Amino acid sequence: MIIQRVVLNSRPGKNGVPVAENFRLEQSTIADAVQAGQVRVKTLYLSVDPYMRCRMNEDTGSDYLQPWQLSEVADGGGIGVVEESQHHNLAKGDFVTSFTWPWQTAAILDGDSLQKLVPQLVNGRLSYFLGAAGITGLTALLGIREKGHVAAGANQTMVVSGAAGACGSLAGQIGRLEGCSRVVGIAGTDEKCSILVQEMGFDAAINYKKGDVAKQLRELCPGGVDVYFDNVGGDISDTVISQMNQNSHIILCGQISQYNKDVPYPPPLPPDIEKIQKERNITRERFLVLNYMDKQEASVLQLCQWIQEGKLKVRETVVEGLANIGAAFQSMMNGGNIGKQIISISK
Ligand code: NAP
Repeated sequence: MIIQRVVLNSRPGKNGVPVAENFRLEQSTIADAVQAGQVRVKTLYLSVDPYMRCRMNEDTGSDYLQPWQLSEVADGGGIGVVEESQHHNLAKGDFVTSFTWPWQTAAILDGDSLQKLVPQLVNGRLSYFLGAAGITGLTALLGIREKGHVAAGANQTMVVSGAAGACGSLAGQIGRLEGCSRVVGIAGTDEKCSILVQEMGFDAAINYKKGDVAKQLRELCPGGVDVYFDNVGGDISDTVISQMNQNSHIILCGQISQYNKDVPYPPPLPPDIEKIQKERNITRERFLVLNYMDKQEASVLQLCQWIQEGKLKVRETVVEGLANIGAAFQSMMNGGNIGKQIISISK
């Protein structure tokens, strides 16, 4: 059977900026016959995520992620529909997902590697299982629960950087649902800031590309910052940490501003900021959602319940077509998305 697939065409280099041309669309084939235990799936949605930047290097710098190989098909979170099954638990028409879905229009996969999806849990919005009801939502929820020390009634202020991105837009809303009394976002355009406040219930949002971030943060967080959900690192995080309270907590979700640089993870803080962190006893522990998968099932149900109740507002930036996945990745790494970046494959 003839399929389309996307392979890694070239590496950007550890200190390079990824571009669409790092990926290449090509035609390929998959076997016509499905063996025992396997299923043939048609791909419906693919996820592009910032962590993929390190898979573009020869060495990912982490033990839980493998590098993509040149001229080999890329993979990541994906959703599809079963078209033919030789697996005891999967039938034609079932919707399934995996973290290692190949970037191709159809595939033959090991049925045991797939999780079955229940579309009703997300009001039929299947792609949410890659975002708000998937790893992204889990990252926001479990990051806050495991590292945020949020206590209802404690009058805490939360700040979120990368706030209009996939994790950030959920993290601010979940911070509020879990009990923070004030939530302030930091994002890169006025449109993003307006969505955060008007749609997602943030109290305020700062456009970090305009004006003095430190000054605006002081005005918007008069009691200081108790919880910082950090997606970006770098200068923005240094500014936030400078305004954090004694015994406050950083949720070290990601450091996207550093991903095109050859630095260790998590990147060390500049000495003056590290001094503040130590003197104020601010926690900054590494958080990796994959370490909490024992809580996946209950947490996904919680996220789905909030989505159904309208308590969690979800935004997606959907790009149509496998051919556009490289451009979508490039755009996402430059902040071009609002909410989760999804690739939809209708043909
Ligand atoms: P995303 O949707 O791409 O959102 C990230 C946002 O960060 C972008 O929308 C962008 O918007 C902003 N940004 C990009 N470059 C920036 C820079 N140089 N300085 C400041 N802001 C910048 O990504 P996501 O899926 O939400 O992921 C967010 C972070 O979480 C990433 O660092 C990712 O690696 C991490 N993550 C961690 C885990 C975990 O287990 N710890 C799991 C999933 C994701 P604007 O610049 O326009 O604001």
